Amino acid sequence: MKALDELTFDNRFARLGDAFSTHVLPEPLDEPRLVVASKAAMALLDLDPAVAETPVFAELFGGHKLWAEAEPRAMVYSGHQFGGYTPQLGDGRGLLLGEVYNEAGEHWDLHLKGAGMTPYSRMGDGRAVLRSSIREFLASEALHALGIPTSRALCVIGSSTPVWREKQERGAMVLRLAHSHIRFGHFEYFYYTKKPEQQAELAEHVLNLHYPECREQPEPYLAMFREIVERNAEMIAKWQAYGFCHGVMNTDNMSILGITFDFGPFAFLDDFDAHFICNHSDHEGRYSFSNQVPIGQWNLSALAQALTPFISIDALKEALGLYLPLYQAHYLDLMRRRLGLTTAEEDDQTLVEGLLKLMQSSGVDYTLFLRRLGDESAALAVARLRDDFVDMAGFDAWAERYKARVARDGDDTQEQRRARMHAVNPLYILRNYLAQNAIAAAESGDYSEVRRLHEVLTKPFEEQAGMEQYAQRPPDWGKHLEISCSS
Ligand code: AMP
Ligand code: MG
Repeated sequence: MKALDELTFDNRFARLGDAFSTHVLPEPLDEPRLVVASKAAMALLDLDPAVAETPVFAELFGGHKLWAEAEPRAMVYSGHQFGGYTPQLGDGRGLLLGEVYNEAGEHWDLHLKGAGMTPYSRMGDGRAVLRSSIREFLASEALHALGIPTSRALCVIGSSTPVWREKQERGAMVLRLAHSHIRFGHFEYFYYTKKPEQQAELAEHVLNLHYPECREQPEPYLAMFREIVERNAEMIAKWQAYGFCHGVMNTDNMSILGITFDFGPFAFLDDFDAHFICNHSDHEGRYSFSNQVPIGQWNLSALAQALTPFISIDALKEALGLYLPLYQAHYLDLMRRRLGLTTAEEDDQTLVEGLLKLMQSSGVDYTLFLRRLGDESAALAVARLRDDFVDMAGFDAWAERYKARVARDGDDTQEQRRARMHAVNPLYILRNYLAQNAIAAAESGDYSEVRRLHEVLTKPFEEQAGMEQYAQRPPDWGKHLEISCSS
């Protein structure tokens, strides 16, 4: 266990120099205070959880203090936003404080979001509000607990600093952890500004640090791109299987590591809805729930375009062709497991699709349905769940198919079935209304609800005594919350 002053830094990205990032100091928040910290994320840095409660913790992550070895940098990148190319973006309000090594030899970027203005702030104020900081913190840690690759969050620091959005709010900072903060948009920036040498330097950096095994391949850059395609296919399969809607899948928000990154107005589905749009400024539904799958491929194509100086177009096309079949395979594998199946049959795809259609037309809660399906034998569970469906005859037909499929899958005891299904079907997810309750309390100075919700979401598959209220469908007020896109 380490104290805060015992972190070891090795700032490899900073050493790439001024063409890649700019030195900027954090702008401190007034009266910084701990809102919530993740013990699990602290463990990634070998930090003693007790240090979260010390004043110096809030000072460090509220921008007042810095380690001597930290080298805060704002990174430059660009990206395609809602399909159109924006030539220059960059860290407009976040700073890479440095890279820290833990005792296991893993390195973690420490990125402070909401740290003030940078050369890339454009019209923004460099700040993040408490509301969006809490949402990013909770989502990062909840996705991780579900087994979905994601950046992590160490803490949220609140403050009395006024920040203007639709109304006056308070500034906050999130300390984000990831093995890298390099985005698709980094490669696009150097490609479209025609800086081939720097682009090659960036590619070498990513290859050496994050895809060293690709060095062994005859075409290392191609192997790396293929790996990025594979990781994205798997990550998006998990989003779809767990009902996660990212909301702003611009290429500047896509990590080169294939992890969920840069949370905006994201949502987990309550009722299953393939057409759900969580970002209310997304008028065309470009990033609707079901569009996430083709958009994943679109984003990879944008990255492929930026890699054309290194890889032949034919090879890039072939690698892109891996995306959909891999996505399908991962998705189907997860959905089979969510349905309690241990074997694969040709028709499983239509079994899954048939269920989702029924859920869609009846507005059935996606998470709770699948959880309850594992509570009892297939026959008892479907008999109980049919009341949730408007089209009961349709559901009965599906249920007959499902029962027959379960029977062919092999016989295990009800205990085995329940344990197997509950291990992949969460009882608790980060529903928008739960986040909203926690935010409202935090905005009035009470952080207990954020902390409790975070605790519950760290064990989403385990039924927790006294936490029944976190496993409910949303109340009427919480069903169609319009989450502000400002952050
Ligand atoms: P986002 O949509 O949050 O991923 O941000 C897109 C771009 O806008 C990035 O370059 C951000 O750094 C920048 N940005 C977002 N909010 C702010 C802000 N309040 N101040 C400065 N830059 C911002
Ligand atoms: Mg972003």
